[in-house]
Amino acid sequence: RTKGYQRGSHTLFTREMGIEIRERALLMQHLHKAFDAERLYLMYQPQLDLVQRRVIGFEALLRWRTDDGQMIPPTDFIPLAEHSGLIISLGAWVLRTACFTMMQLLEKGFQLDRIAVNVSVIQFRQSDFIGLVENALRDSGLAPHYLELEITESVTMSGAGMFEEALARLKSLGIQIAIDDFGTGFSSLSYLDKLPVDRLKIDRAFVTQIDTQGGPRIAELITQLGKKLGLKVIAEGIESEHHLDVLRKMGCDEGQGFLIARPMLESAIEPWLREWKSL
Ligand code: C2E
Ligand code: MG
Ligand code: MG
Ligand code: MG
Repeated sequence: RTKGYQRGSHTLFTREMGIEIRERALLMQHLHKAFDAERLYLMYQPQLDLVQRRVIGFEALLRWRTDDGQMIPPTDFIPLAEHSGLIISLGAWVLRTACFTMMQLLEKGFQLDRIAVNVSVIQFRQSDFIGLVENALRDSGLAPHYLELEITESVTMSGAGMFEEALARLKSLGIQIAIDDFGTGFSSLSYLDKLPVDRLKIDRAFVTQIDTQGGPRIAELITQLGKKLGLKVIAEGIESEHHLDVLRKMGCDEGQGFLIARPMLESAIEPWLREWKSL
């Protein structure tokens, strides 16, 4: 390899993925193996109704623990999985697992509204994605309205027509749709108005911003936008009582964050819910 090539590729890939090319190829191999060896698992983070402080559901978040105990963050390995195509089978597994977990919680009598599952743009482009969602629901026995798919704004940007149709079909199944990391992408407002979306998810950056000189202004703007469009608004990254107070006062409906709970193993959900109820 010439130096120039290395430097070029470095710019191209490291910015995007935070790791070097060779390291990336190696990690990709490890990731495939990890999936086969069931080294990938889900954690669940509670979501609250901010007014009632009631637990309304959980967001499923993927984790990878390597054989030597190292945790690789999803922001590193999801792009890899997207690049290699593994995201198709991985995403299908996430969807099914999350639906089964939710169904079990409901069967145990917990009154929850939804399970939120992150969906990659690659999955959305899959021709049989809707069939996949239908299967996950049917096999788990979960009613569609309990399932929410979290999509990012970049998804909404790619291939507008096709995307709109896919969304409409998903909506017709009765599932819910949230736009994740809202405000960090580039979706146009006119487009947002047309999409059959249920919820806007305020990115953590704008919750963090509450503590800075900028204050809660972007979070407030998104909350007002949501209200105007008739959408629910949820905030991620609530880390303090102050965040919670500010968000509640501005009319943000729901939230999640380390203040409420960190993402937890499936086995920790039940004890946590019982504790929470008794507060
Ligand atoms: P996201 O969907 O926006 O998820 C929220 C992220 O914020 C999670 O990071 C969560 O652990 C973190 N978080 C929540 N509350 C707090 C808080 O109070 N403070 C701080 N510092 N962080 C908080 P995580 O689990 O590392 O996931 C990162 C991203 O990876 C997710 O962002 C999502 O885009 C992606 N991801 C995770 N699981 C999946 C998956 O199953 N499929 C796909 N396609 N993407 C996933
Ligand atoms: Mg999410
Ligand atoms: Mg998010
Ligand atoms: Mg985010």
